[in-house]
Parts: sequence; C-alpha cells; structure tokens
Amino acid sequence: MPTTICPECDEEVYVDAEMEQGDRVNCDECHTSLVVVGLDPIELDQYDEAEKDIADDEDFGSHDYEQDRF
Ligand SMILES: [Zn+2]
Repeated sequence: MPTTICPECDEEVYVDAEMEQGDRVNCDECHTSLVVVGLDPIELDQYDEAEKDIADDEDFGSHDYEQDRF
C-alpha cells in the first residue's frame, strides 16, 4: 500500500493504490480530511481548506457581477 505525508501533521498516511485525483482520505494520526491533489508522487491537501477557497471565490464573483449590471 502506498504512503504519502500528511500536510497537517507530517505523519505517513496510507492511501489506496487505486486512489484518483480529487479522492478524499482521512489522516489516521490527526483525522484531518484530505484530498488527493497529485498522483506521481501522491500529494494530499487539506480538504476543508480547498472547499472554503472555492466557495469564497464564487461568492465574490457573483457579487461583483451584480454590481456591474446595476
Ligand atoms: Zn495528519
């Protein structure tokens, strides 16, 4: 089973050999929700943080668009 390093606690995380980019995994050490962002080598990022960034961008974009129209 391949392993990679948790970005939160720097411990080894076991990942499934058939993991694909965008799949989620929980760190056994710190229980952080992680998302696969790269496969060769396997890289993980904190899932909650990525989700928050996307939501913020969408919110700002729609607000800006409405101001332009009116
Ligand atoms: Zn961890």
